[in-house]
Amino acid sequence: LSDPEEILKKYWGFSSFRPLQKEIIENVLLEKDVLALLPTGGGKSLCFQIPALAKPGICIVVSPLIALMEDQVNALQAKGIKAMALTGGTSFSEVDTMLDNCIYGNYKFLYLSPERLQQELVQERIKQMPVNLIAIDEAHCISQWGHDFRPAYRNISLLRNLKPEVPFIGLTATATKKVVKDMAEQLELKEPLILQKSFHRDNLAYIVKEAQDKNYYLEQLLKEHDESAIIYVRSRKATIELADFLRKKGISASSFHGGLQKKEKSQRLQSWLQNKDRVMVATNAFGMGIDKPDVRSVVHMNLPESLESYFQEAGRAGRDRKPAKAVILTNQSDIPLLKNQFLNTLPSVEFVKLVYKKLLSYFRIAYGEGEGTEHHLNFYEFCQFYELNVLQAYNAVQLLDRASVLNVSEQFQKKTRIQF
Ligand code: ADP
Ligand code: MG
Repeated sequence: LSDPEEILKKYWGFSSFRPLQKEIIENVLLEKDVLALLPTGGGKSLCFQIPALAKPGICIVVSPLIALMEDQVNALQAKGIKAMALTGGTSFSEVDTMLDNCIYGNYKFLYLSPERLQQELVQERIKQMPVNLIAIDEAHCISQWGHDFRPAYRNISLLRNLKPEVPFIGLTATATKKVVKDMAEQLELKEPLILQKSFHRDNLAYIVKEAQDKNYYLEQLLKEHDESAIIYVRSRKATIELADFLRKKGISASSFHGGLQKKEKSQRLQSWLQNKDRVMVATNAFGMGIDKPDVRSVVHMNLPESLESYFQEAGRAGRDRKPAKAVILTNQSDIPLLKNQFLNTLPSVEFVKLVYKKLLSYFRIAYGEGEGTEHHLNFYEFCQFYELNVLQAYNAVQLLDRASVLNVSEQFQKKTRIQF
């Protein structure tokens, strides 16, 4: 079976592709390197699974979360497709056997964490595998500019050396230019084709509501309809307190944060998925891979950390394409937090020192140390040179002036006019 549409029908029972899926799949089949940017719930998994099924050989999938891997492997196995995941808890001899199966056992999918790629055994065996495609799920994790930076994702490019002929596909719902550029570079994609679907979600209403008593407003909002919801708060403590508050008001609510035991996490997730608990009060640890179609509202009790993470979090509402809402509750109490958030973007003294040292050596290299030469540094060139964003660089230089963290010789300051 090699026709994408037939594979879609046979294994998934769907009659047609969603926008862009077909184009992505066709280009992957032409062995091009592809970056697929589709919103959460847009159907990214099929974009590598179908081409992998259409060809002989095995597809290696790098994925950031064990839960994501297990979900996908279970779903594939349920369709009678041979798939496995090398997760953290596997013993050496088990790993050995599993990798053998990937070489000789007609497996179609091997899911790996990026940490696994560091192991020599894994690298050696991958060399021997008949790999037909390398898929990097949640590919924005490779970029420090993204919201889920995962240093081990930097290992992925070593797959390029192990399998120089095999095409890559990177998949993500993140689409800022900076992250896209970074993904393509870090994954060493060859003339990547970047396929991007509009991120507009026309079934989602975005609402910003000023509410003096946020808890009260939330209670009213949740009592309007008896439907599934996610409430984002900023701290672990707040997840517990707000869930308690809601339960006292007769609304079935659970809480979720990164500090919970693995087993506890999956139990709470399950009972929310099965609508035993209607509302999940969570920190941003509740996120990647949450695929519940009928979430009718996502409420942020505080201003989100960034527009990008907001889009991801709000986008968990209405994945079934029926009307849903994303609500931000705000009032005066948010202002100090906002201020802090801004202050946190200021560079540390260490960073400023580093910038300054770089600046010094840059001048020495560029102009020598001779006296009497007027130097002139354009601020934007300076930013570009050090890949700083403008705000960072501006703050760095301001701090430098004010705190004079280093003994900046007056002479040197005169010589190097930094212009804003
Ligand atoms: P993403 O990784 O982009 O968030 P998934 O691959 O998890 O999205 O898919 C989201 C949901 O959409 C899944 O339940 C999947 O079965 C469904 N889906 C994907 N493609 C199609 C399609 N062509 N027709 C119908 N449903 C689809
Ligand atoms: Mg996905």
